[in-house]
This record gives sequence, structure tokens and C-alpha cells, in this order.
Amino acid sequence: MLRAFAVKGVALAAALAAGLALPGGWAVLVISVISLATIGFLTYAIVHPRSQFFVPVIDRLGSRDPIVALTFDDGPDPVFTPRILDVLAAHQAHATFFVLGERAARYPEIVQRIHREGHSVGTHTQHHTLRFHFGSRAYVTREIEDAIAVVAKLLPAPPTLFRPPQGLRTPPFAAGWRRLRGLTCVTWSVRGLDSLRTTADKIVARVAPKLVPGAIVTLHDGTGLGGGADREPTLAALETLLGECKTRGLRCVALDGVGGAVP
Ligand SMILES: [Zn+2]
Repeated sequence: MLRAFAVKGVALAAALAAGLALPGGWAVLVISVISLATIGFLTYAIVHPRSQFFVPVIDRLGSRDPIVALTFDDGPDPVFTPRILDVLAAHQAHATFFVLGERAARYPEIVQRIHREGHSVGTHTQHHTLRFHFGSRAYVTREIEDAIAVVAKLLPAPPTLFRPPQGLRTPPFAAGWRRLRGLTCVTWSVRGLDSLRTTADKIVARVAPKLVPGAIVTLHDGTGLGGGADREPTLAALETLLGECKTRGLRCVALDGVGGAVP
């Protein structure tokens, strides 16, 4: 994949050189178009949850069954994660929690409760830093491996699902990711943007229209990089969304180790 990136880079350099050889106004136009196209492509490759360019990802369930996967990032949180677990239990729904290693170490009993109640546990780096997107290969792999090591001590098997912070797959992340084996990178088909300051109604308005078979929904039980710390809107939205799932005949399932559904 990175070889394809290098080939595109060489092609881009050649195109820019050709553009520079054109007369004044045309050179500016050609170089501007090429630059904008490159920025657009890189933005898609790094940000879009469906892009497979830098890292292969699972952005929705492969099954056509009437199932959806709710996922929660940035926990465990001592206040909100237990309440989210209570709501899920009341609706007989299952979900996947992408936990931070440092928080899993602080609240091991919550991670064990998540697992005990039939949900899946994935990881979301050890510290959730901005540096993760731009750091060295060694830093990226350490952030992933440290989080896995924390959770592996708490559960019967090491977690294999991983979600990068903000879902970004930058070239430094891709370089570190390639050194790791047996992990599945999970993005989403819809997200509630509930880590921002928002309301339950807005979260529901974002998620409900895309609550279709195979959807992977991203919500938050903890606080990540910036954003609001209040998960009350998430909790209220979750009640509504679980009701919507029931109305639409959708079952909420946990992801298995390769991004499918737990049978
Ligand atoms: Zn996060």
C-alpha cells in the first residue's frame, strides 16, 4: 500500500515538473489543480472511515442479517460506563468498548464487567494523544501494544480489535500498524459525534437515519482528546436508539475478533 503511495508521489512530482514547464498562467492553474487533488485524496485516505488506502479497516458488518454494532470509545469511565452497561442490559443489547489502556488499568473491574456481560473489548491506544497520529513507528506500536497488554491481563484472551483515535489512519500510524500482527482496525459507518458538546436529540438525529443492517455506530463512554466530558446526552440518546433498533427489528451485537458479529 505504501509502495502505491510512493508511486503516486513520483507521479505527482512528475506532473508538478510538467506544470512548471508550462507558460505562466497555465503553470499556476495546473499546479493548483494537482495540489488540491492531492490534498483531497490525502484527506480521504486519512479521514474517511471507508478508506482502505493506508490501513485495511472494517467500517460495517459483513452480514446481511438485521444486526448492528454499537461501539463506545475512550472509556472505561467510572461514572458513565456502568450506566451504559445498565442500559444495554435492560435492552438485552450487546456492544463493543474500545478502551484506553491507562483507564483500563485504573478501572479493571469495569473492563471485567464489560466482558462478563457479553460485550467485546477492543483497544484505543494507551494514552489517546495527538502525537499518536504523527509519532514514530516505535511510539505507535508501543501505544497499541501497551493498551493490549493492560487488557490482556484482565481478560481470558488479548483483545484483537483496535480503533485509532478519531479514526484517523495517518502514514505514521500505518507504518507502526504494519509491524503488528493479528489485529483488526475498526472504523464506523455512522458516528454520533457525542464527544463534542451536543444534545441527545442531535445524537439521535445523526445516528438514527443510518441505523440499518450492518451499521457500526460510534459513541463514547469516556472523554478523549478535547470535547465535552458529559455523557448524559449519550445515555439519553442510547435509550432512544435502542428503542429504534427494536422498532426496526435490529439486534445489537458485539463485534468478534475480526470485526464480524459475535454469534
Ligand atoms: Zn477516542
